[in-house]
Amino acid sequence: MTLLDRAIVRLLPAVPKPVVQLFSSRYIAGPTLADAVGVVVRLNAEGKMATIDVLGEEIVREHDARAIAQAYLDVFAEIERRRLDSNVSVKLTALGLNLSYELCKENLREVIAQGKFVRIDMEDTSTTDDTLRLYRELREDGIDNVGIVLQAYLRRTLDDVHQLADLQPNVRLCKGIYVEPPSLAFTDDGEVRANFVRSLDALLEAGSYVAVATHDEYLIQQGLQREIGEFQMLLGVREQRGTELVAAGHRLRVYVPFGEHWYAYSLRRLQENPAMAGTIARATVGRLVGK
Ligand SMILES: Cc1cc2nc3c(=O)[nH]c(=O)nc-3n(C[C@H](O)[C@H](O)[C@H](O)COP(=O)(O)OP(=O)(O)OC[C@H]3O[C@@H](n4cnc5c(N)ncnc54)[C@H](O)[C@@H]3O)c2cc1C
Repeated sequence: MTLLDRAIVRLLPAVPKPVVQLFSSRYIAGPTLADAVGVVVRLNAEGKMATIDVLGEEIVREHDARAIAQAYLDVFAEIERRRLDSNVSVKLTALGLNLSYELCKENLREVIAQGKFVRIDMEDTSTTDDTLRLYRELREDGIDNVGIVLQAYLRRTLDDVHQLADLQPNVRLCKGIYVEPPSLAFTDDGEVRANFVRSLDALLEAGSYVAVATHDEYLIQQGLQREIGEFQMLLGVREQRGTELVAAGHRLRVYVPFGEHWYAYSLRRLQENPAMAGTIARATVGRLVGK
């Protein structure tokens, strides 16, 4: 990414929402559960597993957080009915973490009570401690159908791996996408990669099931050299590479987000797409200058 592109990427939040929606449609199944089901049916036919995410991180009211929990129950019902090869991913802020820890825990318990596997996504560092605490509480209550995400860009992650080792957690390992200060996160991609590999080895050493979530060829190769549980990719990103992994006999799960609250997720995907972010921003600046 050029310096200009980096600067433009920071301005993306100023881009009109319809433009963001247009350019980010490849990353999102659509507004409804039926859209997500359609995408999962296609992925399953290609030998790819899925994890369905009900978008909702902009939630600020208790009523809406409960509605997201309910939406997950609908997702499970549809997974069952259509016999989809899919689990779900949840964001704790969508279940009300910013409103109250207890509300969030209650909502999460309701989702987990379905008995199918639930992955708790990891959000920005204001939520890391609460997320790990909640995960530990659930596991110590004997709940096993739940997994966590660790972010290799965080300086604390290797310590977290060691702290969690007694639980042998089921972990999705990714680089991490939220904007964090250098005091908390590595900013150099080489350092992030090195911490990814260190954390991966420590997790495998602890006997964890590890999902390697990346589109970075260097890290995919690292995964291929180890006994990992599965690869994971995002909908709309490097689909052909995913197909190749499946053809070579590897397990691959695709993250399938759907719902009305698409904006924050879309911005993050565009910000990490080197080519797209600049194109959109330039088109928008062009429109504004044109006016
Ligand atoms: C299944 C899954 C779940 C995730 N869950 C979380 C989570 O819970 N918390 C969290 O903080 N982060 C999460 N992430 C995001 C992750 O942290 C990274 O931000 C993201 O995967 C990009 O990093 P990368 O390892 O693919 O490497 P990058 O170096 O960013 O990407 C490698 C290459 O992939 C391609 N690519 C990557 N992103 C895009 C894009 N948006 N559009 C087009 N091409 C692209 C480009 O060719 C790029 O050069 C998740 C990622 C995946 C795959």
